[in-house]
Amino acid sequence: MGFGLPGLLSKGGLMVGRLKADVVVIGAGITGASIARELSRYELKVFLVEKEADVACGSTKANTAIVHAGYDAQPGTWKAKLNVRGVNSFFPMCQELGVRFEKTGTLVVALDEEQLPKLYELLERGYTNDVRDLEIIGRDEVLSREPNINPKAIAALWAPTAGITCPWELTIALVENAVNNGVTLLLNSPVLGIDASDCGSAMCVKTPGVYIETRYVVNAGGLYSDDIACMVGQDDFRIVPRKGEYYVYDKRFGSMVSCPIFPVPTAVSKGILVTNTIDGNLMIGPNAQDLNDKEDLATSWTGLSDVLTEALMMVPGLPMVDSITNFAGLRAIAKPSNDFVLGPAPGVPRFINAAGIQSPGLTAAPAVAEVVRDFLYDADLDLVEKSTFNPCGSPRLRFSALSRNEQGVLIDKDPNYGQIVCRCETVTEAEILAAIHGPIPCTTMDGVKRRTRAGMGRCQAGFCTPRVAAVLGRELGCDLDEVTKRGSSTGLLLARTCDLRAAQGGDDNAED
Ligand SMILES: Cc1cc2nc3c(=O)[nH]c(=O)nc-3n(C[C@H](O)[C@H](O)[C@H](O)COP(=O)(O)OP(=O)(O)OC[C@H]3O[C@@H](n4cnc5c(N)ncnc54)[C@H](O)[C@@H]3O)c2cc1C
Repeated sequence: MGFGLPGLLSKGGLMVGRLKADVVVIGAGITGASIARELSRYELKVFLVEKEADVACGSTKANTAIVHAGYDAQPGTWKAKLNVRGVNSFFPMCQELGVRFEKTGTLVVALDEEQLPKLYELLERGYTNDVRDLEIIGRDEVLSREPNINPKAIAALWAPTAGITCPWELTIALVENAVNNGVTLLLNSPVLGIDASDCGSAMCVKTPGVYIETRYVVNAGGLYSDDIACMVGQDDFRIVPRKGEYYVYDKRFGSMVSCPIFPVPTAVSKGILVTNTIDGNLMIGPNAQDLNDKEDLATSWTGLSDVLTEALMMVPGLPMVDSITNFAGLRAIAKPSNDFVLGPAPGVPRFINAAGIQSPGLTAAPAVAEVVRDFLYDADLDLVEKSTFNPCGSPRLRFSALSRNEQGVLIDKDPNYGQIVCRCETVTEAEILAAIHGPIPCTTMDGVKRRTRAGMGRCQAGFCTPRVAAVLGRELGCDLDEVTKRGSSTGLLLARTCDLRAAQGGDDNAED
């Protein structure tokens, strides 16, 4: 992202900018985005610093997208307290920001008598956690609501306060709103170190191009939040990545279920579920596998087979061959607590952790943001409300969701609405232009995909990749071979054929 660098210093031959902040939030996933937006309500200079080329690139980009009711987490934990608080704020927050949230409810389905006690245990736990309106429903009710469920179902826990959303749509909207309210977003800016002695009473957050002198730091670094805590000497927790794999099905199957359907949970996960998505696909997953590698997002034959086998137990009619893609996400599990790590680092009261935010971290995000704000206040940060704060975002226009008439009116106003770039999802060039020129930089293919859904349909970008790349290149003023999938070393094109031929001494005009 381009930004003015006041006071350039020379450090070992490199020019380093020095900036001043009240608060630096590290990590622009759903947690950091929610915190930055919460802090933008106050008269503060806030920087949101992200190592990747876009926001929502960590756990936030690959999860089940369920806004959980809150019956699952052990009472007394941060996960339990903030899940229920989060779900209560979710709908108003999405309304303010113009983000889609569908209150579908969720079902946990018992398939035999042995699973029944667990269902009642979840019901009790839900009551203890203050979850509203939970009930156990019988077989007939389950099957009349969800006719595709295994007819062996004997009962289910119905949680009507739960729902589904789109995690990256929400994160982008939160960051756009934060930026519109004065937060500075620094992308492509990995935090390499934090110096608590360099700058007097303040801390100094170091990225390759910029040093930020700041009074407070918030650690929302997801899978890397343990490494970031270590930068100020905190080593009392570590993050273990726990992988979850998924299948996504064509939209033809999106109505096979009308809400997320869970099996009874296991010790390590809520189990493999079958869910509809906010965009109308059907999705199954995730499994749960602890790893050492925080970058391992590969799907595996064995993992996906397990996902399919277990999902078939819940919905036996699942199609076997109509999956359009599969993917994996990594949960950030904090050891030893297995809970969110919230609060100041020991001995560094102005360094506040929002670390190890595993599931239900998406749901809990608005509540986590409030808790972090309160920790900052307790550490003597003045919170003076900004009279100009505007909580509202503008919903992204979705051409495919409009009637023919409405589409026609738009095309008359702007012919770019008549240019369909992604046929599967009916995404127009005008929407792609709006994404690229939005309030926060969108410079990659994945960035366009997450904002518009271009490439998320049945052909999985098979047809639209060259066209999206051409629009991106044109609008960013760069060559096609500089367009990347997700920043830095992820270029789409390896080389130009004519250059390769020239290098091999070939004749560019020769027939193949
Ligand atoms: C398989 C799976 C299923 C899930 N399902 C659900 C669900 O249905 N409902 C629910 O509520 N929750 C769910 N979750 C949990 C939810 O996705 C996470 O809790 C949430 O996304 C965590 O957000 P975060 O911002 O804390 O972390 P992340 O999204 O990982 O963001 C951390 C950010 O920090 C950045 N960063 C790291 N190190 C640095 C550095 N040194 N400098 C600068 N930036 C840095 C990263 O690039 C990243 O963007 C699921 C998670 C997974 C993996």
